[in-house]
Amino acid sequence: MGAIDDLAGNNRRFAAAYGRGHLDVRPSLRLAIVTCMDSRLDVFAALGLEDGQAHILRNAGGVITDDVIRSLAISQRRLGTVEVALIHHTDCGLQMITDDGFRAELQEATGMAPSFAIESFTDVDEDVRQSIARVRHSPFLLHRSEVRGFVYDVDTGALREVESDAAVLGGG
Ligand SMILES: [Zn+2]
Repeated sequence: MGAIDDLAGNNRRFAAAYGRGHLDVRPSLRLAIVTCMDSRLDVFAALGLEDGQAHILRNAGGVITDDVIRSLAISQRRLGTVEVALIHHTDCGLQMITDDGFRAELQEATGMAPSFAIESFTDVDEDVRQSIARVRHSPFLLHRSEVRGFVYDVDTGALREVESDAAVLGGG
């Protein structure tokens, strides 16, 4: 039996004790968080978040891809969020590969070059700044000035804010 069976069993106990009732589909903090899929980052615990308060978008690296922009556009235009927090982290899996190397590996294994960008990085602060810039420059988003970026330390649990070059980018 795989892990999923255990988790489905856990859910039966969770649902039996569930007392929250119905929450509004619109996040009460009017906040969207984009972060990495990393298994060590418990976003709710690390930020003191509760259910119903924020949208959480996760992928490998917390990268601002077209699909993340799609989600943010819906989050802002239909579900009322106005702020965006980006949380990258130390010891990320994307620091262990290179774009060219992983792309070649996929192509050699499958005979197809992937259509997506790999988005590996070496400097996490620079990666956060690039993600902030992508949000700030997206024409599909309504609210692009309240975007802040952080690095989460997976060994200490501490969050550190990354200074963005918003002035250079012109904000917006
Ligand atoms: Zn990561």
